[in-house]
Amino acid sequence: MQTSFSLAQLANPDIAESDKILRACVHCGFCTATCPTYVLLGDELDSPRGRIYLIKDMLETNATPGAEVVKHVDRCLSCLSCMTTCPSGVNYMHLVDHGRAHIEAHYRRPLADRALRTLLAWVLPRPALFRLALRGSRLGRPFAPLLGKRLRAMLSLAPATIPAVSPVDTPQVFPAAGARRARVALLNGCAQPVLHPGINEATIRLLTRHGVEVVVARGAGCCGALTHHMGRETPALRAARGNVAAWTRELEGEGLDAVIVNTSGCGTTVKDYGFMLRTDAAWADKAARISALTKDVSEFMSSLGLMAPAREIALRVAYHAACSLQHGQKITRQPKALLAAAGFNVLDVPEGHLCCGSAGTYNLLQPNLARRLRDRKAANIAGTQPDIVAAGNLGCMVQIGSALEKPVVHTVELLDWATGGPLPPALAGLGAPQRR
Ligand code: SF4
Ligand code: SF4
Repeated sequence: MQTSFSLAQLANPDIAESDKILRACVHCGFCTATCPTYVLLGDELDSPRGRIYLIKDMLETNATPGAEVVKHVDRCLSCLSCMTTCPSGVNYMHLVDHGRAHIEAHYRRPLADRALRTLLAWVLPRPALFRLALRGSRLGRPFAPLLGKRLRAMLSLAPATIPAVSPVDTPQVFPAAGARRARVALLNGCAQPVLHPGINEATIRLLTRHGVEVVVARGAGCCGALTHHMGRETPALRAARGNVAAWTRELEGEGLDAVIVNTSGCGTTVKDYGFMLRTDAAWADKAARISALTKDVSEFMSSLGLMAPAREIALRVAYHAACSLQHGQKITRQPKALLAAAGFNVLDVPEGHLCCGSAGTYNLLQPNLARRLRDRKAANIAGTQPDIVAAGNLGCMVQIGSALEKPVVHTVELLDWATGGPLPPALAGLGAPQRR
């Protein structure tokens, strides 16, 4: 694709990067067929190729984008299915991230939209505040019919009960069981420990049982993905620097073999810290080092090797491949291989490349499209007739769980259970013959 940036514009490293990405696109349109919003809406402007043109024009003219442009960029899930499909290696992720930052810097959103985004960006990365907001949402439930559709969507996804704070989610070290094979830092995250603290608990049990020392580092917290995908670079980079600093202290202290992430949406962002901080001389090298160390928990367990199952489990597991894991990190084989090695009967979900509609805050900001994608995903999963559903990303678990009768659990909860851990609470209702 030809571009027409001036030399002065190309002196900006962000523009130079986007210019390189745009020039790689040959506008073949292969990506349109696998783009969830194009599949639903059939509008070229809601396809990757259409959005690439919109972002190119917006950056070249350096203009304030119009509401139409913002609408089509906002509808993008950042699922990155287009990057898996693209034969030319177009880095759509970095282009749309730049586009969103440009929109955030130049476009004034309507008041309600601005307020909702500010609320989400402020509350979700702060566990104490998020817990408080969830408590408040229970009081708001009876008034749901009176609220707008986005606030209704928020209320519908809030859990009925809020788990207690887990003792694992404070800075500490969990020693390896037996001889130490590795030492890792675990990103314990922001929203996940509030909504489902059992995932970090299962991850720590699984890793320590396999001879891995796990450190929850002081100063680490939200990865910044949520604000990054809203185009809010200042808080996103602040979060990235905080985590890089915390894990670098561990790396240069007792040493680290990996940084483990068990929410794939966060993992994709942490693996991109090196790029996000590339122009910051004080942080670029450290961030690149942390990104290179970062592994999804399934990726790490796959290289470590799973111990023999401690129990026989006759369950059909529909494996939902989170977009951030399969498209963002190109991890497709490992979670299924681990589940099979643990004794589960793993089922592939048709249209597995399509997003479930969760996509960070997408299901709150674009509830209609998110619901259509969720229902399509739920129907595809139900067609496999599973006993349970497994996924490696909390957002997908909440989204899919809101449309399916079957229990939805994290892959590590199943691996932990199979190798000697407790039964995941979501499976308590399953019949005894199915969970021997
Ligand atoms: S598949 Fe790649 S090269 Fe083709 S239009 Fe899409 S982004 Fe451009
Ligand atoms: S990231 Fe997903 S929704 Fe966005 S353009 Fe690519 S395929 Fe479409």
